[in-house]
Amino acid sequence: MKYALVTGGSRGIGRAVCLRLAQMGYQILINCNTGTEAAAETLRLVRENGSDGEIMPFDVADAAQVHAALEQWTSAHPDEYIEVLVNNAGIRDDSSLMMMQPQAWQRVLDITLSGFYNVTQSLLLPMQTHKFGRIINMASVSGLKGLPGQTNYSAAKGAIIAATKALAQEVARRGVTVNAVAPGFIKTDMVEGLDEDALRRQIPANRFGRPEEVAALIGFLASAEAAYITGSVVSINGGLYT
Ligand code: NAP
Repeated sequence: MKYALVTGGSRGIGRAVCLRLAQMGYQILINCNTGTEAAAETLRLVRENGSDGEIMPFDVADAAQVHAALEQWTSAHPDEYIEVLVNNAGIRDDSSLMMMQPQAWQRVLDITLSGFYNVTQSLLLPMQTHKFGRIINMASVSGLKGLPGQTNYSAAKGAIIAATKALAQEVARRGVTVNAVAPGFIKTDMVEGLDEDALRRQIPANRFGRPEEVAALIGFLASAEAAYITGSVVSINGGLYT
């Protein structure tokens, strides 16, 4: 059995990634925070796509929850390891910096950045021991360009890009690749309430992206063929920012 863990796999891009990796033959560990019903639907779709998996709820920002869930999985699967990790869980909580409340700053950083640390660190040793691992971090155009009204989100995604580049160099010799994907606007719950008509006029492709398009890119980065791509940030944004 080959195992992949997708944080925030219950909805949106994470769900599409679960299905893509299921089609590639992975057993999927579907993480969510509170959305267990949506995660159950993802699991049903994973099965429909010819694979299987389990729901693994934890708050990525809570180190104790992350460690408990992963230790429990490891005890139940002593001879196996998680070879693909997609750090996808994320939220946005937008406002101008002047109006930004401390909790909006902290929570966005905690989920994206500390979440990356909590989950990734726990899985690194077995990936290196087995000399094969794929870590894909969900960044954003915000982390490359910076977007007004999103200093917290832009800071978190920018930091993830830097962490991706640093970690890639630490583990490359051990067959573990670390890359980041930087989407523009992708049609999920996260962009609900945005003015799609106005925004798409700024996008050369004249439309928002689909979660499946991001999942296809992540599927490739997770594959054996992508062994020589590491420390990269791949944009997927319809030409919005290059
Ligand atoms: P989404 O539809 O809002 O889904 C967010 C996912 O993250 C859900 O599965 C949610 O789980 C999970 N999550 C949130 N907080 C969590 C936590 N503390 N612990 C564990 N899981 C948590 O968002 P999306 O658009 O698919 O975004 C996925 C990733 O892509 C995010 O990192 C986002 O920043 C990034 N991104 C999105 C876009 C876009 O336009 N959509 C663009 C660039 C980057 P629950 O169901 O339990 O809440």
